[in-house]
Amino acid sequence: SQVANILRKHDVTYIRTQLFKPRTRPESFQGLGVEGLQVLAKLRETYSVEELKFVAEVCSEEQLAAIADDVQVIQIGARNMQNFELLKVIGKYLKKQDFVLLKRGFANTLEEWLASAEYLQRFGVPKNKIVLCERGSRTLTSPTGVHLDFIAALVAKQSGYQVIIDPSHGTKKREFVLPLATAAIAMDFDGVMIECHPEPAKSVSDAAQAISLEEAEQFLLARHSSN
Ligand code: PEP
Ligand code: MN
Repeated sequence: SQVANILRKHDVTYIRTQLFKPRTRPESFQGLGVEGLQVLAKLRETYSVEELKFVAEVCSEEQLAAIADDVQVIQIGARNMQNFELLKVIGKYLKKQDFVLLKRGFANTLEEWLASAEYLQRFGVPKNKIVLCERGSRTLTSPTGVHLDFIAALVAKQSGYQVIIDPSHGTKKREFVLPLATAAIAMDFDGVMIECHPEPAKSVSDAAQAISLEEAEQFLLARHSSN
């Protein structure tokens, strides 16, 4: 609720909820699962659907069925960008949601990313309900091991999609998150997705790239004053 308060104060509507988290290691925190729906219900006591929209990743049809009615954005994560059977069932569950967020896989070409977006469309998701998210590709040449590919994101935008940037996974280091978020806004992308935490170093997920709530708020304030 601390994050929700800050977002609402600055007129941001979408909040990451991530009930199901695909993690590289089996012992890592896997998300709250369906029990997290209670947390969402609690937030709903304070914020209406118009005020705060929940973004949640799903990795299977079972997860999708469990939460589809309670979230406003269905996220397909980088690891599932080519989970074609999952892509094929999203349309069936899409009802009141605002859009489907399709992240680019970290070793996928632009063509493969757009082909996955076409899967969504062929199976019932209208193009204007697809938002693409660039989150960086694995590379040997970047000092952070990940290369945030603004050019691919620009070409995706030229193809008629809305595109947002995830500078958290895109850099993996908190000191680079806001500079690249600022660049993404200056480049006129449709948004950014940022991981923040009241005590970033203690985050149970991706602590190295989480920024503090104060930094998140400073970024949101700077956006207001430049608009
Ligand atoms: C996430 O958004 O937290 C996430 C797991 O990202 P990605 O799928 O890009 O790794
Ligand atoms: Mn993450």
